[in-house]
Amino acid sequence: MKFTPARPPLTGETLATLTERLRAHGEPAFRAKQILDWLYKKRARSWDEMTNLPKPLRTWLADTFELMPAALVLNKQSEDVTDKLLLELGDGALIETVIIRAPQEGVGVEHSRKTICISTQVGCAMGCVFCASGLAGLKRDLNAGEIVAQLLQVCYREDVRTPRARMELASFDNIVVMGMGEPLANYDALIRALTILNADWGLGFGARRITISTSGLVPKILKLAEEPLGFRLAISLHGVTDEVREKIMPVNKAYPLAKLVPAIREFTAKHGRMVTLEFILIEDVNDALTQAEKLRDLARDLHAHVNLIPYNTVAGLPWKRPSLTRQERFADVLRAARVSVTLRREKGHDIDAACGQLRLRTEKERETTGAAISAA
Ligand code: SAH
Ligand code: SF4
Repeated sequence: MKFTPARPPLTGETLATLTERLRAHGEPAFRAKQILDWLYKKRARSWDEMTNLPKPLRTWLADTFELMPAALVLNKQSEDVTDKLLLELGDGALIETVIIRAPQEGVGVEHSRKTICISTQVGCAMGCVFCASGLAGLKRDLNAGEIVAQLLQVCYREDVRTPRARMELASFDNIVVMGMGEPLANYDALIRALTILNADWGLGFGARRITISTSGLVPKILKLAEEPLGFRLAISLHGVTDEVREKIMPVNKAYPLAKLVPAIREFTAKHGRMVTLEFILIEDVNDALTQAEKLRDLARDLHAHVNLIPYNTVAGLPWKRPSLTRQERFADVLRAARVSVTLRREKGHDIDAACGQLRLRTEKERETTGAAISAA
């Protein structure tokens, strides 16, 4: 299950670890900063572009590190404003990275809010019954370099779209760790990757614009509350009673609401910021108004924001999204109590944007045809 690449990815090195590697090789410390500048600021895509490094050092680097551990194999643009990148890793595993452009009222797409959604595992072990990512279980954790590489691939992609002005990652509004996998089950790689993402020698992206979404791993939520960088937290709640939640989320057996809710409270107290409660609306599973009332009370108690997400159907699974009227009635219960609530309009439904679905379909196609996917 563990994948050890022949050469570790450069994208997984921090300034400290790279300086140490170089020092051990007899190189001066300033080289580490030069190399990371080439990678993150100048976005070099080959060692040979790093022209201020001596040739023997470039040769050593090429023998020692993988420059980019994730290759773009497919870029699917939906009819709305979602872009989906399918990336292939060193062992052939596939992961997804999604760019979501949400237009603002009355302005063009160029002024839309832009969010990048990244993956942290290949598959997922949590077994939520509605989710495509978890259908085949967990294949493996991503390493930090593979997590960071997703963001570089987004930058490369944006460079192609705007060839004259390099698009900076900072021009995106948010990064959400809501792609494939349970991020807190891959804690160390996640924190290392987000540290690189945040650092000024790295991609320089503000911690407060990074949201980690979890299905509710209580001990790791408490650990995250202690991290010095203030990342935001979203909880995939999807049920406000144990009865409803444990039917669809097996994690609720180990960490029922009586444990999860105090952990959210503690995170909010330590971190001083609103947590988001995500609630997928699934017909006849969790969309009763009694759930809405309990969700309203919980959100008020926790001083949390609520994000209602109409369920995206997954081929082969029986779950459905409720009618628009039913979605609105659910949301109205929260609105009436002035709970901060958004009812997400769907994005990218037409390109299988829901968690893990593009990968699932591509893998199925590979199995049936044995074919490699052509580069986009
Ligand atoms: N494992 C983490 C993060 C990845 S899932 C978590 O569960 O929070 C990101 C979000 O997508 C979660 O809220 C998850 O419940 C939701 N999701 C999964 N499948 C979905 C589907 N078919 N339709 C809508 N949302 C879905
Ligand atoms: Fe894993 Fe999140 Fe999907 Fe649950 S919803 S199976 S935790 S990716």
